[in-house]
Amino acid sequence: MTSSRGPSSPHARADRLWESVESLLSVDEARERILAAVSPLPAVRVPLLEALGLVLARPVVAGHDVPPFTNSAMDGYAVRAEDTAGASYERPVTLSVVAEVAAGSRPAVAVGPGQAARIMTGAVLPEGADAVVRFEETDEWDAGPRLASAGQPAEIRIFRRVKTGENVRLAGEDIRAGQEVLPSGTVLRPACIGLLASLNLRWVTVHRRPRVAILATGNEVVDLGPELLPGQIRNSNNYTLAALVRQSGGEPILLGVVRDDPDEIRLRLRKVRGVDLILTSGGVSIGDYDLVKHVLQAEGRIDLWQVRIKPGKPMAFGWIGEVPLLGLPGNPVAAFVAFLQFGRPAILKMLGYRDWAPPIVRARLLAPCENRGQRRHFVRVLLERAGEEYVARPVGEQGSGILSSVALANGLAVIPEQWNEAPAGAVVDVQLLDASWVP
Ligand code: AMP
Ligand code: MG
Repeated sequence: MTSSRGPSSPHARADRLWESVESLLSVDEARERILAAVSPLPAVRVPLLEALGLVLARPVVAGHDVPPFTNSAMDGYAVRAEDTAGASYERPVTLSVVAEVAAGSRPAVAVGPGQAARIMTGAVLPEGADAVVRFEETDEWDAGPRLASAGQPAEIRIFRRVKTGENVRLAGEDIRAGQEVLPSGTVLRPACIGLLASLNLRWVTVHRRPRVAILATGNEVVDLGPELLPGQIRNSNNYTLAALVRQSGGEPILLGVVRDDPDEIRLRLRKVRGVDLILTSGGVSIGDYDLVKHVLQAEGRIDLWQVRIKPGKPMAFGWIGEVPLLGLPGNPVAAFVAFLQFGRPAILKMLGYRDWAPPIVRARLLAPCENRGQRRHFVRVLLERAGEEYVARPVGEQGSGILSSVALANGLAVIPEQWNEAPAGAVVDVQLLDASWVP
């Protein structure tokens, strides 16, 4: 990397300036470099529900069988399958009812030849029984009480033959004691959480969430609160980025706004402790190059990159001490798009994810999209299902300062850098903004 070269004067001319940067990276190259700089974070134990969307740092091994005992899959009569041989509606088999087993209780007696036990779904299968006949296949509905009373043995007529094991759930048929249930690296989805609960695991060992510090730069940028004076704009980036960080599974830490003043930036960043990633916005375009470079070189290492991406060409990446720093462009849409292409994959990798590609569908563009300048163009679109395919309609103004049109979009259509334009009808990848990728 060329981090240490570059102009020292704050008024360096643009031509000298870009000599010193590693310019013209593709989106994929830039992402690879950033990903190479981060690793999955250390393991922590968290309460089961907090582990949703996080990644197992150790395999989970079952401490017992699931289900823990053999039980009935239906409401009906537990029988010995051989006793039902030949049973039909015309020639029912009559068995005597010796017990009733409800879920949660233990059968008091065994089922012997010629006998049956009335049983509920989830109840322990009595000793001796090996199948269950459903109520629907007995005369349960049109006869009286089923249990012996006042010396009267209760009987049940069985209308259908059952095979051994029919309507029975065997102990351990889902999970066997000692079995590796979920390997390390598993993303914990809701079903995994339930599976861990079925094994009585109240704490889970996962890669911890990255803490992500977020800092805005710009003399004109004002945080929420005071009224804007002429020439000032509101700091929206920190909030967009914090929301994106949270949606990506990180813990955002808002550092507010600093002026375009190297000392102020330096002081603010020096105070940052215990974070895994720093995101800044603004101050990385040509006019600001010296500012960012001086500050960050004094504190660590920094590279300025021009990435072939639209919106959002200028970007910085480096280190403040041990902490990686991703310098995003100031324009709100550029910061949004660049975060999704570079920041989110870094966070997912820190979380232990092995797949950080955004969810994508192929869709047909309903309007042409221009694309000059050999950059990968991310076009905000509304994606809809139309019969057998998806169609994507560009929404609103596409300027890199127009956040309102991003707010209306549910996808980013990806126009490849090799295309000079994407005509209406072209089929392109669309990154989904709404899909819950969420950790
Ligand atoms: P810069 O990258 O610093 O040249 O900023 C590019 C544009 O983004 C300028 O119009 C800035 O006013 C605007 N901008 C920079 N930071 C923010 C922010 N935190 N929130 C909203 N807009 C910003
Ligand atoms: Mg600025």
